[in-house]
Amino acid sequence: MIIDTHAHLDMDQYDADRDEVIQRARDNGVDYILNIGCDVESSARSLELAERFDFIYATAGIHPHDVKLIDGSTYTDLKQLLAHPKMIAVGEIGLDYFKNYSPQDVQREHLRKQLALAKELDKPIIVHCRDANEDMIAILSEFYPVNEKARSGIFHCFSGDQWLADKALEMGFYISFSGSVTFKKSDDLRAVAKTIPADRLFVETDCPYLAPVPKRGKRNEPAFVNHTAELIADIRGLRVEDVQRTSELNFFELFGIGKNAPTGTVSYQIRNSLYLNLTTRCTDDCVFCTRLTRPVVQGYNLKLDREPTAEEVWESIDDPTKYDEVVFCGYGEPTLRLPVIKEVAKKIKDAGGRVRLNTNGHGNVINKRNILPELKGLIDEISVSLNTDSSEAYDEICRPLPGFRNGIYDKIKIFIEEAKKYIPKVQVTIVTQQKDVDESACEEIVKKEFGVDYRARKYNMVG
Ligand SMILES: [Zn+2]
Ligand SMILES: [Zn+2]
Repeated sequence: MIIDTHAHLDMDQYDADRDEVIQRARDNGVDYILNIGCDVESSARSLELAERFDFIYATAGIHPHDVKLIDGSTYTDLKQLLAHPKMIAVGEIGLDYFKNYSPQDVQREHLRKQLALAKELDKPIIVHCRDANEDMIAILSEFYPVNEKARSGIFHCFSGDQWLADKALEMGFYISFSGSVTFKKSDDLRAVAKTIPADRLFVETDCPYLAPVPKRGKRNEPAFVNHTAELIADIRGLRVEDVQRTSELNFFELFGIGKNAPTGTVSYQIRNSLYLNLTTRCTDDCVFCTRLTRPVVQGYNLKLDREPTAEEVWESIDDPTKYDEVVFCGYGEPTLRLPVIKEVAKKIKDAGGRVRLNTNGHGNVINKRNILPELKGLIDEISVSLNTDSSEAYDEICRPLPGFRNGIYDKIKIFIEEAKKYIPKVQVTIVTQQKDVDESACEEIVKKEFGVDYRARKYNMVG
């Protein structure tokens, strides 16, 4: 149920009990281990492990500490190793200006050479970066232009700042956190970890080093990756299962190993809420929405081959009282299926559950009547995406479909006013990080005009 994306099980720290360590990883739910090469010898040993165990994969590369030892045959050896099907990445490669075991200009030279090799072989890379943020981004951007959707890789044992994380994400990289994120002094790192989108996040051990709390100080091993996953879940307000599910899907998307997320998800749990996916149709076509390109939230694929019936939705819930709330929310607009909402919400309420509806506020236009009186007693809480601070900005960012274009923004405001009469709790959300949206203006509108709760929602942090 979890993946250790960075282990050094070939090191002699495991010579006495390697097989037991590997078995413990399996017993603790580690589905895959990526064993990382640091030079030609350790890359070859990683491959030996990958050949012995079907759930272990390997990488080959020369660590920045060791690039000073590269000789005439190194690149031929690397290429030969990387030809093996279980060799799934080039790495670890990078820059380490903290230890400086190799001269910095030699580090840069061989980083470039190995990046060229990764490009030539079309393999992802494993990046080691310590105290070299600016040089790293400058060099990577020669190979991974922003907006080019190239096969990227993983920033392993991330120890950088928000700037480095944002730059790496921009180029399409994934960010992996090791046990260091659990250390007492790592508040800054935890703050960065909170901001990484779920679809770019990994955890790792970097074992035998950096054992996470509560194993700190001991020899690390893949089974301990669960402690780091738990910490990451905790700071992001998630369950560990949520982190496990997304890291499995990310591993599949980056390396093609494991399972893709199945489509046709009707109900899905995040934290202790159960979400219901009624439709993928929407009356907006928001610029930030991935409804049509990648309808995935927290590792669940919400693409529907057909829309579920009220009965199918109800059956997928099992027991609504098991959850804090049951939420009508998917990539589509739920009020396009108003009769299903009403039927299912009634059953949830009758069973003693709590119901929330997340909507774009077009419901009255869609259904050609004021639907809010009909939701009285069925919906406990409604969350309306107002998204912007003006009608013009709304049309530009949310791009309502034909038929919804004439002043829909003002109709959403009327919808919010009406909602206050019939729904006990009303919340208005704005999607942040859109360049034309003035967040504080949105908050003003929501608080002053409607007197309801306001929530800023980061566009790439859905769920
Ligand atoms: Zn490293
Ligand atoms: Zn390493």
